[in-house]
Amino acid sequence: MNRIVIICCMVFITSLHAQTFTEQDTLRGSITPERAWWDLNYYHLNIEVKPDEKLISGSNTIRYKVLTEAQVLQVDLQPPLQIKKVTQDGIELDIEHNGNAHFIKLKKQQKPGDFNEVVVYYSGHPKEAVRAPWDGGFSWNKDANGKDFIATSCQGLGASVWWPNKDHMYDEVDSMLISVKVPKGLMDVSNGRLRSIDKKTNTYHWFVSNPINNYGVNVNIGDYVHFGEKYKGEKGMLDMDYYVLRDNLEKAKIQFKQAPLMMEAFEHWFGPYPFYEDSYKLVEVPYLGMEHQSSVTYGNKYKNGYLGRDLSQSGWGLKFDYILIHESGHEWFANNITYKDIADMWVHESFTTYSENLYVDYHFGKEAASEYVIGMRSNIKNDRPIIGTYDVNKSGSGDMYFKGANIIHTLRQLVDNDEKWRAILRGLNKEFYHKTVTTAEIEQFIATKMGKDLGPFFDQYLRTTKVPLLSYKVEGNTLTYRYENTVEEFEMPVRIFIEGKAIWITPKKDWQNLSEKGDLNTLKIDPNFYIDTKKQ
Ligand SMILES: [Zn+2]
Repeated sequence: MNRIVIICCMVFITSLHAQTFTEQDTLRGSITPERAWWDLNYYHLNIEVKPDEKLISGSNTIRYKVLTEAQVLQVDLQPPLQIKKVTQDGIELDIEHNGNAHFIKLKKQQKPGDFNEVVVYYSGHPKEAVRAPWDGGFSWNKDANGKDFIATSCQGLGASVWWPNKDHMYDEVDSMLISVKVPKGLMDVSNGRLRSIDKKTNTYHWFVSNPINNYGVNVNIGDYVHFGEKYKGEKGMLDMDYYVLRDNLEKAKIQFKQAPLMMEAFEHWFGPYPFYEDSYKLVEVPYLGMEHQSSVTYGNKYKNGYLGRDLSQSGWGLKFDYILIHESGHEWFANNITYKDIADMWVHESFTTYSENLYVDYHFGKEAASEYVIGMRSNIKNDRPIIGTYDVNKSGSGDMYFKGANIIHTLRQLVDNDEKWRAILRGLNKEFYHKTVTTAEIEQFIATKMGKDLGPFFDQYLRTTKVPLLSYKVEGNTLTYRYENTVEEFEMPVRIFIEGKAIWITPKKDWQNLSEKGDLNTLKIDPNFYIDTKKQ
């Protein structure tokens, strides 16, 4: 099968061939000098959405702190949307356009430490989503009653596909107000809390009081009805609110009973939900789903599994709603801990795919969880490395999902102490609370907590497509073993069982022997390690 399996919330793999990158890729994917000198503080996105014309118009106010002196500021917005004008302190500014990047020439002297604002006015017909959320943009749909049902999705593609912003992940805005005017009879649900509704204009004002990444921002418009509950969590009372289409209320009330079960499992494994102040929401959308921060979007048709299918083929995948669990897992790994560069997207997807098996672990036990994550292996391709190309907005292989989950599951085996492992997962969410990170930082944190050099481990699994092969022979009562297909210095211990008794061996590139008293015909290699095995 050449085409990648459909996986949730992102990236489709286009080609295995070497790719050339353009100036636009660099402008989009790197921290350009026109981005580096200012630090995002606040956005007020203020737009009107006109479904009949598929038109949006409005402005984004960008408040920033000056870090170093400079006079040119890069803002991103993708055609066919157009910037109408940009002002600072009411004075219109000149703009130099270069594709999706727009260079604003500031008149006022930018002094380090100052907080300044630019207001970017824009309008147009935004790119329509082709296959949301993977090939995103605006989805203009209708519900079963013929009412507008509209949503945005833009991971990878970039938030600049529908609003002007600093479209690079390294710098998250500290807080944001999202004001959306929609036709009467419809409601907008965005991130954070509903601060107010201007009934005269039917404008919804949503406020996010925590740092948020660009692709996490969203607009969802429909004939929504609301229900909710209060959840007693690790950090106090958490508001959990659900917005679904009017006709789906009863189905949602049953299916979303899984939301507090999710919260319980993930707070146990990862620590407190990272956005108590902004509440937790599930919002129905006309596409499969996406990890929009504090307004997780849901389109799994109120079925368990992935649109009713078990991606693990273990049976456990049908015990829960894949989209509800997976997209919510991203609140910890994507929204709390966020990649700086999409090349490191495994930090989002590997840990979140792994989180599904921790949900299974919490509610159905450790053995069930193992069966689930091991069952996911049939989806692994080993076509390209998991880590992508830096500075050009290029993610790695879709293996970041299922292989990634199995890499992390393998780490759990190496820790061999579930309380310690849980402390590492919770520690990650504390250390990198509301931060953007690199793979190196994540590797370093885990290695330090484990007290192990994990360099070769991560090189092998994240930077090559090679699966370690444990090759072994049994002669009499001697077991001979070694690794093949590994990077230099790859010496990962593996648990084996002889007569049911666990024994750790540390294979290397050279053959080693183990003489055992037990019956080697009973030898079993622990399947929880993501390796291949070959008996000579
Ligand atoms: Zn995901």
